[in-house]
Amino acid sequence: MNKLKLLELIGTKCKLCGYDKCLRGLHFHHILPPSDGLWEWRRGSKTVSNALSNLPEWIQLEQIDRVITLCANCHAEVHDGLHPDIPCPPTRSPGGKGQVTETVEEKTTLWDM
Ligand SMILES: [Zn+2]
Ligand SMILES: [Zn+2]
Repeated sequence: MNKLKLLELIGTKCKLCGYDKCLRGLHFHHILPPSDGLWEWRRGSKTVSNALSNLPEWIQLEQIDRVITLCANCHAEVHDGLHPDIPCPPTRSPGGKGQVTETVEEKTTLWDM
């Protein structure tokens, strides 16, 4: 499933400001932690690019009700805490237990393209 298709399912404009001019300017932001399936898949994956649109379709479908569409600017603001009404999932280790080695969020460009 490509990004356009995902955007049709999730929302084609920024949830905060309504921006919809440029596909590249739109990100997916997780309001719930990613599904277990995604973590499992990532652990076994050697793929460098793991943006949402490159994931297997069943994993994409699992994420759809966990993400919202935000433009790049609003996305940055949400992560800087300017929009307390939009949840940012807490950090979590992909391995389940042990120290947190990775944040849920977009440092890995997992859901932002
Ligand atoms: Zn916006
Ligand atoms: Zn985000």
